[in-house]
Amino acid sequence: MSANHPNQQHVAFRQGSDLSLRAHGLQNTPPVQAISSLTSQPSTRQKRTLNDVTTTVAGVIWSLSDTIPSLRNIKTNLKDNVNIWKTNGTSIDPKKIPSAIVVQAVGSTLQLKSNNRIQVVQKYEARLASGCSEARRAQENGSWKQKKEELLIPGLPSKKFLESDDNPRNQSENIVQDVFLHSSKPGYFYVLWEGWAVDNLYELSDIEVQQSASEAVRLAQIRDAFLDAFNAANGTGELDEFVAREKYLDRNVRMDVNHPFWTFKDLTYFHTQLHADLEKGPVFYFSLETDMQNPPNFTYTNVNVVREDAYIRCLGRLANQNFSELSGSANTMRSSTACSSPQHCKCNQRALLAYGATAAGGPVRLLQYNAEGLLQLDNYNFDDARILVECSNTCQCSPENCHRRVVQRGKSVAIAVVNGNIGYGGYAAEPIKKGQYIVEYVGEMYLLKERRSKENVAQSKKMKAQPHANIDFRLTQTQKDEMPDVHALYINRPAKSKRGSSYEAGFSVIDERIVICASKVGNVGRFFNHSCNPNATFVEVHSRCFESDPLIPKIAIFALRDIAVGEAITLRYYSDQQMKDKRGMKCG
Ligand SMILES: [Zn+2]
Ligand SMILES: [Zn+2]
Repeated sequence: MSANHPNQQHVAFRQGSDLSLRAHGLQNTPPVQAISSLTSQPSTRQKRTLNDVTTTVAGVIWSLSDTIPSLRNIKTNLKDNVNIWKTNGTSIDPKKIPSAIVVQAVGSTLQLKSNNRIQVVQKYEARLASGCSEARRAQENGSWKQKKEELLIPGLPSKKFLESDDNPRNQSENIVQDVFLHSSKPGYFYVLWEGWAVDNLYELSDIEVQQSASEAVRLAQIRDAFLDAFNAANGTGELDEFVAREKYLDRNVRMDVNHPFWTFKDLTYFHTQLHADLEKGPVFYFSLETDMQNPPNFTYTNVNVVREDAYIRCLGRLANQNFSELSGSANTMRSSTACSSPQHCKCNQRALLAYGATAAGGPVRLLQYNAEGLLQLDNYNFDDARILVECSNTCQCSPENCHRRVVQRGKSVAIAVVNGNIGYGGYAAEPIKKGQYIVEYVGEMYLLKERRSKENVAQSKKMKAQPHANIDFRLTQTQKDEMPDVHALYINRPAKSKRGSSYEAGFSVIDERIVICASKVGNVGRFFNHSCNPNATFVEVHSRCFESDPLIPKIAIFALRDIAVGEAITLRYYSDQQMKDKRGMKCG
């Protein structure tokens, strides 16, 4: 198996001038000389020989060649390296893109059907990304241990190797976790190795670093461009010291293996690796404070973690029917591929049948992508009920190329999470266009209990009492009778709460009883703050690659306008009425 991590979707884009440090200015960096010959010796940590390098690195540190392989392209044979979604080590196989993880209720005897895309587990646990072989090895054999409770975070290794460890280094190649421009030695980087504590930061020349870790350099380039833009937007200079610490490291963090700074770097690296498994954009975490102590503590997930009750509810809904069931005829849209002419698209008909949604508005407004895959949001109104329906295999279009399959492909943008004087916030780390998909809002998906009628509870109990009942992706008529679809009750209701408590996001069109909570389990979407004049919005998404799969609703975040690098991404969580009721304040 191969762990081919670099996010190919973003490579071409990010190597453009927008993100080169030359474009953003390298004010604190000494000028870099062109390197025309290799004079430095390879580090002891590098098995690769440097003799075959033919590329001459130009005068700018960050200019990279696509042909230089990343160390993360190495092969691994770890037993637990199971999450490989790629075919031939190059592109992701749509059949293997996960859409949800279902967690069985304690004591449940239901046998829930699963497939490549829907995983059923007894318990959700944080995991390392597929390529992190050195981190896995260190977690077993490393002698450094994280001792501070507040720095123990699910999914981050709590053990690392120290230089003094007597460990066999020839078992696998070494992996570059992160690189930082050397503050006093022109043309050199500090290099942090995956699985190794910071008692020994290597210093490598730019040619060595680029040759062995082009992906780490690419990510550092995006990171530093973000920091410069963020600092410039702040404009006061009060962040200079913290930005310099992030870019060049300072003595305090370099000399302190236990400094919380390194926990933020681990969050950055391991969450980015989880994203890279699915070709999502990187995530960066920064603490721009003197006294950094509290990294965000939650379990990262790329997909919704669905509790059993919510899952069965999804299976029982009208919208879960496949297209021919829904339309009452297999031939309604014969031979139409439709994506290029929306009025003939099956997806639009499906939206009408399942939700009463049309592009013209009405009780529920059907949103559309343009030909570039950007959401059309021209007459956006916060209080409108709205839904987005993406193509599936019944549309016969290309899963890789159709412009109406954006959320299901899941390629998110680069995002920075900053802890500053207003607490945590999420920021654009690459330019985002109006209508562009930013990231999905994922977390634990569950049913709101307080809205359950006595009748529903009784029916649900009856169902759970059946020993080893098989729950298929389509419920039997008896099962459906026991889990009545209440969608029809809600179809004409106006949009209500988008968010109850601080990390809960609800659906108002697809299902009012289902909620996604990102408090304990979530992704980078949980860091975006409220604004009365937001630049992004939540959209309920009906999307599955295969009609035979369960329809598990999604909440996606799209840009309402162009967002520049360094700008906060904000959402509106509360309606005018909620603002008055709950907070005694008002937008506008
Ligand atoms: Zn379609
Ligand atoms: Zn399509």
